[in-house]
This record gives sequence, structure tokens and C-alpha cells, in this order.
Amino acid sequence: MASEIRVRIAPSPTGNLHVGTARTALYNYLFARNKKGKFVFRLEDTDELRSSDTYTKDIIDGLKWLSLNWDEGPDIGGPYAPYKQTEKVDHYEKYAHKLISSGKAYFCYCTQEELTQLKDDQKNSSMAPRYDNRCRNLNQSQIDKFQAEGRIPAMRFIVEEPRVISWHDAIKGEIAINSSDLGGDMVIVKSNGVAIYNFAVVIDDLDMKITHVIRGEDHIHNTAKQILIYEALDAPMPIFAHAALIFDIERQKLSKRKHGEAVHVDKYKKDGYMPEAIINYLAQMSWTPPNNQEIFSLDEACALFDLDKVSKSPAVFDIQRLNWFNGHYIRSLPIQEIITRALPYLSGYDLGQYKQNELEAIVSCVRDGLTTLSEIKEATQFFFDETIIVPADVKEALLSKQSSKDVLQKILEHLSEFNFGDAKACKAVVDKIGAELKLKGKDLFFPVRAALCGKTHGPDLGSTISILGRERVRSRIESALDLCAKT
Ligand code: GLU
Repeated sequence: MASEIRVRIAPSPTGNLHVGTARTALYNYLFARNKKGKFVFRLEDTDELRSSDTYTKDIIDGLKWLSLNWDEGPDIGGPYAPYKQTEKVDHYEKYAHKLISSGKAYFCYCTQEELTQLKDDQKNSSMAPRYDNRCRNLNQSQIDKFQAEGRIPAMRFIVEEPRVISWHDAIKGEIAINSSDLGGDMVIVKSNGVAIYNFAVVIDDLDMKITHVIRGEDHIHNTAKQILIYEALDAPMPIFAHAALIFDIERQKLSKRKHGEAVHVDKYKKDGYMPEAIINYLAQMSWTPPNNQEIFSLDEACALFDLDKVSKSPAVFDIQRLNWFNGHYIRSLPIQEIITRALPYLSGYDLGQYKQNELEAIVSCVRDGLTTLSEIKEATQFFFDETIIVPADVKEALLSKQSSKDVLQKILEHLSEFNFGDAKACKAVVDKIGAELKLKGKDLFFPVRAALCGKTHGPDLGSTISILGRERVRSRIESALDLCAKT
């Protein structure tokens, strides 16, 4: 029997959950579920200075919010979790010593000052920065001298040059990297004992029996380095798959520096995006389902996903398109679900006085017009506030229409004919008034909308009238008529 597929998402808690990390997590999740394998979540905190618990929490919360639930990892125990790389120092060192014993790594005594000097010299000579492998063949007296100076060595891995490191990438196809482009012999364990990412990641992937490493294209050179380490340890190699980077619509890489909070999942959560929309959007961003389906759920994507359908070309993050997906899910998720999710955005209103069916009517009425749930407060204000203030521009438009006064007057006259329990019937009365006055379209609806909602555009008029009810319709029409009379 083929061994179980095991994939992982391995974010470094050095920032909030990035959209690119979420997409990588999603592709790993989909692949694991499709292959009935395991999806592992591992935190990589080898960068001690930049890692923080706040970021860890944001990443965990973000992945959970997206329903990318892991089989092993933080919060749920399992054989490998929770743990921190910084707590596995001895384990990595054991492997590093194995490489030193087999002559594939060595102790490097270079100081930070010497390395900085080397970098500066290379820069001044317009050379690409790289380690010049100066400690690779130290003799005993040089070693003794450095030790006498109290230098604590790092461990460096020998990168043979020249050499081509090639592999078949499950997304990008054949990849070949020249070892001379890898920056020279690489540190695997720093002088303070902390393992460097490229080394720790190999040991972790081996420990966790990871079969497929699916990550962003920005790791291609790291993969070349990691392949060398697998070879040196004579260890089985996973299959690598690199997803193309995500660009903005101007073809610039999505980055915190350029795009600020827009690169973080948390921003979309706060702004009232549906996790279903983000998942659908990110999934189809670089992957085309075999049936070209555009709208699909996480479960549907799991059933269809495979790496060979992931695009090799860069993905484009287009907020308009995400908004389109979000609008779709706001319109199509069960109304009860939308109400629950909308509640935080409606916290300023006294919702206690509304019955469930009234809230349902209000949210149903406005949801078609929403792009994000954070817009719901503004969109529903005229329902929740007892009175409305008609903004200057709407007032001006109201007064400029010859028909406004007539329409509003007629609504008052016909008020007894409105059956407020029936939105369609309410609309029919307005249409009847329109027929009487020989008005339709904007000339008919605009004055009513302006008077009732204080807006030029708004939700379905029949539903609006029905929800507002007789007394509020009467008082708002009267107030609007007062405005008209004052001119
Ligand atoms: N910690 C790395 C990152 O966040 C993980 C890369 C990998 O998947 O190996 O980019």
C-alpha cells in the first residue's frame, strides 16, 4: 500500500497571516483532503527576534476562520504538536554533528564583523554577495587560534560548486538551479545554537514524514539548498510543488510594504468578508477545477483538487473580483448565518427590541446591495433609527423634481390601502399611484425612497415600506412634504 500523503503549512510567526500563506495552506489542505492524507500545521520560529505570540495567535485564528483545520498541530495535540523549533535545538544539532562527522559540514569561526566586511567588499566590487567558504579548510593551528580568541563557531554546510540541482516540481515541471547561485557554503546552525530555517525545515519535514512540500515560488532557491541537505543526510526526499507568486493588478508582488494591511487575512475578516468567499477566491486564483466551475465550497474543491491543475503563471489579486465572490456569498448563505455574522457590525443599534423575523426581513432586504458585511450598519440605519436626516444632496434632488410633492401627497392619501404585512402589495400601491399620476421609474420611486430612506438608491421599495410600517412611513412622508413646502 502506498504510504499516506502528508503535507504541511509551516508559517513563521513573524507577521499576521498573509494572503499568500493562506493560499498555500489552502492548497495543502485541498491536496491532503483529496488524497485522504494528513494536513499538518507547524510553526517555524527559528527567527527568534521577529517571532511573536501575537502573530502566532493571528495565524491560528485566521486559518481556523477559513476552516482550514489541521490534523496535527497547535491546539489539537497529535504526535508533533504543539512544539517550537527553538525547543528542538538539541535535535537539530545532533543532525548537524552527523554532517560534520561525515565531512559535509564544518565549523565556521567567522565573526559578524568579518562577514559584514566581506559583504561590503563584494558590494564595492559589484559582486553578488556570497560566503567565500574561507573556513571550509581551516588547519588545526587556525582553529586553535580562533578558539583561543573565544570565538564560538557556527556550523556551515558545504555547497559543492559547480553543480546543477534539478528536480521535477509537481506544479512548475522541471526546475534546475545552479549551486553557484546559492550564496556559498551555508550556515545550518548559528553560533548561538539555533538552527537556520533551511536546515530545521528538512529535519522537521523528515521527522513529520512529509511526503509533499507545497509552498510559494519564492522558496525555489531554498528548495535547492534543502535538496542538498537531504542528499547529505541520505534521507528520502519529498515531492516539491511551488505555487506561483501573487501579484497585484499592476503586476507588483503582494507585499506588506506596498500594500499594507491588504496583505493580511485579518483585514478581510474585520471588513466583513465571508471566509467562504476568500476560500473560493484563493482556490480559483491559481487553480482551475476540471469542470471550470467558478463558485465552489471548500468541500467541493477538496473533491476536485490536484496539483497538475495549478497554474504556473503568477496569480493576480484583484479586489474587485474578491468583492464579486463576497457579494455572491452574502446573497446566498442562509439568512440566519448572515444575521449572526452581521451582529458585530450592528452593535450600535438596540437590536433587543426586534423579533427574529423582523431582523430577518431587514437583513434580507439590504443584503443584495452589500459587498462586505461592514457596510450593513450604514445600509440598515434608516430601519433602526426612528427618524432620518435627509442629506443635502438628496434633499436638493427631491426638491428639484416637479413630481416629488405629488407623489408624496398621494402616498399619504392612499396610506390606508397599504397592507404592511406584504411587500409586494405595498409596491403595487406605489405603482397604482404612479399610474394615476402618469409617472414611473425614477420620477415615481425616487421621492418615496428619498423620503423613507434619505437615499437616492436603496433596497427593494416594497420591502422597505413593509418593514418601516404605517407610522414611520407616515411621519417620514410628512417630514419630506414639510421640506418641500419650505421652498
Ligand atoms: N516558514 C517558512 C515561511 O513562512 C515556510 C516555508 C516552507 O513551507 O518550507 O515562508
